[in-house]
Amino acid sequence: MGHIANAKSSLVPLIDRLNQYPIGLVDNDILREMLSILFTEDEAYVGSKFPLMEATLDEMIERTGYAEEKLAPILEVMADKGIVMDMPYGDKVYYLLMPGVIGFIEFTFMKNRTDIPMEKVAKLMSEYFHWDHKDGQAKEFFGSKTQLTRSLPYEDTIPVNSEIVSFDNAKEIVKNSKYGAASMCYCRHKREHEGKSCKKGAPTQGICISLGRGSEFLVRRGFAEEKTKEELLDILQTAEDLRLTHITDNIREKPTFICNCCGCCCEIMSGVQAGYYKGVNKTPYIAVVDQEICDYCGECFIGCNVKAIGLDRTVKNGNGRVSQVKSEICLGCGACISGCDKDALSMIHRDDYKRPPKSKRNMFMKIAHEKGRLGPLVTTQIKKKLGLKN
Ligand code: SF4
Ligand code: SF4
Ligand code: SF4
Repeated sequence: MGHIANAKSSLVPLIDRLNQYPIGLVDNDILREMLSILFTEDEAYVGSKFPLMEATLDEMIERTGYAEEKLAPILEVMADKGIVMDMPYGDKVYYLLMPGVIGFIEFTFMKNRTDIPMEKVAKLMSEYFHWDHKDGQAKEFFGSKTQLTRSLPYEDTIPVNSEIVSFDNAKEIVKNSKYGAASMCYCRHKREHEGKSCKKGAPTQGICISLGRGSEFLVRRGFAEEKTKEELLDILQTAEDLRLTHITDNIREKPTFICNCCGCCCEIMSGVQAGYYKGVNKTPYIAVVDQEICDYCGECFIGCNVKAIGLDRTVKNGNGRVSQVKSEICLGCGACISGCDKDALSMIHRDDYKRPPKSKRNMFMKIAHEKGRLGPLVTTQIKKKLGLKN
């Protein structure tokens, strides 16, 4: 669509439509350039016509005014690109416009694509996420009171007198899911296209876990590979061996992914590092340093993916300097613990733990409410319940 630059009539309505989601895309020139590469003119038009919930082909024919012969192939390509999720159910297929994040922006780098200039898109995406941390896309993603994502603790690092609940246990989440797959890490793949690589040596391939119905879509459309539970548990172990931070949906029931994140490539970790300390919901735990033992060797600084450990300027032990964990930043992920061979690091319970919302629906309603975007969501849900047109 060198394409859409000449067709702003579809691009702006598409952005407006995407911004009805609880997590939208802040409009600026970088976004417009990026979307003009990811969407053709027809795809932008069709995207702008999507209701807030899923729609059938017939509903989309009515909304777009396109004939089936024209619309069906467009939707097919949009599903291949990860812009639209198609969900076969009974004798019907339902289509859902994916949000930008977490959605088609990530999916773009979960495949090796030759139809778009990957280097250029990678550069634009990085610029977009880091443009104006205070009021740009970082605020849209991390700035709401209810977080979109949360961290999970390494099970073997939690306090000995503590029992981990199943929704906080990455292994239990995998075991309780009916279907699972592994895919490329979007962030590390994007960084590779910018000529950079992970400082922890974390793999790009097969390290991100997707779960449930959404992962069936990702497998069907070539974004992920189906895995057994044992294989997924092995991925979690690989992640812990590399001291990556487990990140999942900020919900208690049926999380849809477990990302395994490093501090150098991951856009989620970089948001916390940029100052959105509450941008990712924390585990019920927090790391602490035994300053009687710590010799400020610095090993744990490398382990931590959000730069939550540093010099304690107020204390000196016999050796001079000691470390401290910054409680407002620490996610309670446990990635630092095994790095301390003096056993100076451990986890304790966190006082300000915030229990995640029950379901994805609850979480999105809360975020939409906090952002003043609840109206269209509620209207769509009521219409759906009453069997009225979207
Ligand atoms: S959020 Fe973390 S694991 Fe997920 S894609 Fe980004 S770096 Fe990879
Ligand atoms: S790894 Fe252990 S000893 Fe070294 S700085 Fe961290 S807490 Fe201190
Ligand atoms: S200090 Fe860093 S690595 Fe350790 S638990 Fe906290 S966030 Fe995780």
